[in-house]
Amino acid sequence: MDREPLQANGESIMPDSSHFVSAASLRLRLDWLNRLRWGAVAVVLGSVLVVGPWLKLDLPMAGILTTAGGLFGLNLLYVVRNRRLPPVNIRSEIRLVKVQMVGDLLILTELLNLTGGLENPFFFIYIIHVILASLLFKGREIYQIAALAVVLFTGETLGEFFGILPHHHLLSAGDMTHELPFVLAALGAFWLVMFTCAYLGASIMKHNRAIKDELVERQASLVQADAEKMEFFRFVTHEVKSPVSTAQSAVEAALELDGDGLSTPVRGLLERGLGRLEQANRMVRDLADLTRGGELRQSEKTELDLGSLVAEVVVRFEELAASEGVGVMMKPLTAPVILHADANMVDKVVANLVGNAIRYSGGAGVVNVAVIGDADGVVLVVSDQGIGIPAEDQKRVFDEFFRTQRARELSGLGTGLGLAIVRRFVRRMGGRITLESEVGVGSKFTVRWPLEIGNDEETS
Ligand code: ADP
Repeated sequence: MDREPLQANGESIMPDSSHFVSAASLRLRLDWLNRLRWGAVAVVLGSVLVVGPWLKLDLPMAGILTTAGGLFGLNLLYVVRNRRLPPVNIRSEIRLVKVQMVGDLLILTELLNLTGGLENPFFFIYIIHVILASLLFKGREIYQIAALAVVLFTGETLGEFFGILPHHHLLSAGDMTHELPFVLAALGAFWLVMFTCAYLGASIMKHNRAIKDELVERQASLVQADAEKMEFFRFVTHEVKSPVSTAQSAVEAALELDGDGLSTPVRGLLERGLGRLEQANRMVRDLADLTRGGELRQSEKTELDLGSLVAEVVVRFEELAASEGVGVMMKPLTAPVILHADANMVDKVVANLVGNAIRYSGGAGVVNVAVIGDADGVVLVVSDQGIGIPAEDQKRVFDEFFRTQRARELSGLGTGLGLAIVRRFVRRMGGRITLESEVGVGSKFTVRWPLEIGNDEETS
């Protein structure tokens, strides 16, 4: 039996701890890093152009402005690249982060050299890259980033100390900052903090990765169990379909051909049998719908007007509503609400929800149906003033064959498959369904679909 691929953001997320993030979520962090870089450029420019003259700092302005300009240019490149290329490959994204981090560390070291080196209290900014590395990389790579930061800053500081690199004084920096014991103590503290940070980051993320792997594995086995359940339903449907419809036709024919000639008890027995066979047939049809949910194909998608489709369903249910003593109201639409989807699936969703709302209204009240379209997508709301669903059953009503106690008392006809079909279809179309209900007050089912409906794989 084929195992359904587990998908997230278009990527396979089968158990694998090599990366904690997907290409898409990594891209979000890269965007965040880009914003941080704009902030850094602004802070450097602000300090140099405003704070510098104000505090009468004697710093190499041309060098600082050139380095900040370099950072600005690089960041512009990163931003344009992120806009142009969608995130597809986690490895190329990770490679890019590494290149960006090395670039950032070099630029930071250069800026520190131009603004006092060890005298500049901002030298701890290196820590941001170690934290970020622990979020994105695994053990060795985190230490490599920490080591690179330590080597660069130690090299810069000792270079200044031994006169190999130029030193630029910050305001109020005393001689103390040029004495070897101070330099060594400060560098020692820096090394300690950087490697402790790398160690903590690596340990925390190792723990998180283990949790993620377990979750992914559990989800994979849930998907597997669900696929097996569907396979079993498919098998049962296939095996039971033909005997049930043959038996139903035979009993119908017997009643039609010789119904009047039968004794009342025999006729009664046959009619009861026919009723049960009709119910079994309904169940077979529902099971077929449920298992067919996986067969949505792109070619079956059409541009459909949800408002008209819902209005048609409402008309189809007029007779049932009248016989149940229930009114059905559809909120008028000011403009068509267009959905790109498989019309059959959408029809089944709407029909199941409207049918249930009528059947579980308890013989009175009004069923309200509304279709709302906005920039995010499409919303379908079906609410009733019926028997309601107890809080403890609200999750279970979407499970196959589950019926509430009250529903069973009210009608023996249900199969308990309608909402399972609805949830499966809605999810297949990338949507979500929610339920609000109160016993004796009524129920409200809300379906939300994105405008462009895909063939989303189910993950639960
Ligand atoms: P069926 O209606 O065939 O029993 P469904 O899967 O459609 O199966 O619904 C499952 C159960 O959810 C129903 O048996 C009923 O208990 C409950 N239910 C569904 N819709 C409503 C509703 N609008 N009001 C109250 N209960 C509902």
